[in-house]
Amino acid sequence: MDHFEYHDGVLHAEAVALPQIADGVDTPVYVYSRATLIRHARVFRDALAILPSVHIAFAVKSNPNLAVLKVLATEGYGADVVSGGELERALAAGMAPADIVFSGVGKTSAELIRALEAGIGQFNLESAEEGLELAEIARRLGRTATCVLRVNPDVDAGTHGKISTGKAENKFGVPFDRAAAIYARLAGEPGLAMRGLALHIGSQLSRLDPLEAAFLKVGDLMRTIRAAGHTVSHMDLGGGVGVPYKSGDIFPQPGEYAAMVARVTADWGATLMFEPGRVITGNTGVLLTRVVRVKEGAGHPWVVVDAAMNDLARPAMYDAWHDFAAVAPSGAQMTANIVGPICESSDTFAMARDIDTVARGDLAVFRTAGAYGATMANTYNSRAMVPEVMVDGDRWAIVAERIEPSTILAAERVPDFLL
Ligand SMILES: *Cc1c(COP(=O)(O)O)cnc(C)c1O
Repeated sequence: MDHFEYHDGVLHAEAVALPQIADGVDTPVYVYSRATLIRHARVFRDALAILPSVHIAFAVKSNPNLAVLKVLATEGYGADVVSGGELERALAAGMAPADIVFSGVGKTSAELIRALEAGIGQFNLESAEEGLELAEIARRLGRTATCVLRVNPDVDAGTHGKISTGKAENKFGVPFDRAAAIYARLAGEPGLAMRGLALHIGSQLSRLDPLEAAFLKVGDLMRTIRAAGHTVSHMDLGGGVGVPYKSGDIFPQPGEYAAMVARVTADWGATLMFEPGRVITGNTGVLLTRVVRVKEGAGHPWVVVDAAMNDLARPAMYDAWHDFAAVAPSGAQMTANIVGPICESSDTFAMARDIDTVARGDLAVFRTAGAYGATMANTYNSRAMVPEVMVDGDRWAIVAERIEPSTILAAERVPDFLL
């Protein structure tokens, strides 16, 4: 459920008509609904309330906008960060350092030091090598790093290959059959406090059974590690719950996910940690765009919009689907290819899609663009960095300004040796 609905034939975000935002900020622009964000945060949190001890760390990479993080901090969410930059954002949004977990295979020494000094709650170690480096840093700084070990359960998440992370051939975590030995080694390191295991098998999962299979595997590993005399008090089950991008698609509901987790973990006796991203932010945003022109083609007409793959990369990267809708539909339908202006054939949002009839100058949206949308934006083709707006009832505000090509150009230099 979201708060992007038609009133008097015009698409609104909550009580704000989208043309009003296009007039104020121009297009393309991401529009987030605060009420939708809060709703998703609460539905997920409330679903997990059937579990005895829970910590939720929002996956910042899905939408790192400061205003979004602020809303989630207010809702009691911590943060799962994967870079020093995301760590600074989570702190700037007011998230308690103790509620921040740090994931990622390539944390640099500088990032480890900064996170340790900030007093974050947990490092999700992705290798023995990383654990040994962190231990050395912690000893040098006279601190203790609280850690879990991310394991690669070698389970097929059944999602797009580029967002699968839990197969043996993926770079993430330590190999399942070596995890117990690595855990024992790191548990013996002064400077580290090993307290559990983590996993995250992929994103946009449409079924619960790969998650269940992975949780069962790490549950067994937890018992093995405990039997060897080590503490396992925290189990970080990652994120990955998918959302429907195509109207009519059915996805697991948070309640079903929580019920599965409760069943699998009933006798674990551990605090369960979660790192949801998309399921919280996916539905909270649309990408508002304007039709530049409709161009005749050999087949279907090309609807050329002013948003492009640099603003919303998912279709080009993952062949992803985003529903497309006119802001003020006439009721007529057309079959068209929807593309952006970038000089790449991958700058294609949809082929042979049945859509609301649109013409030059019309506004339209790509729906379900709140996760992995603006966060992946870039300035390819020397386009502007796409801005972001948040709506709250009948109010709205720019939460990320458009960065003009001139600003980016001003950061470039022609060196003396070229003069
Ligand atoms: C990306 C990521 C997540 C969030 O994934 P979603 O599919 O958005 O829920 C959680 N944990 C880790 C380690 C990640 O890399």
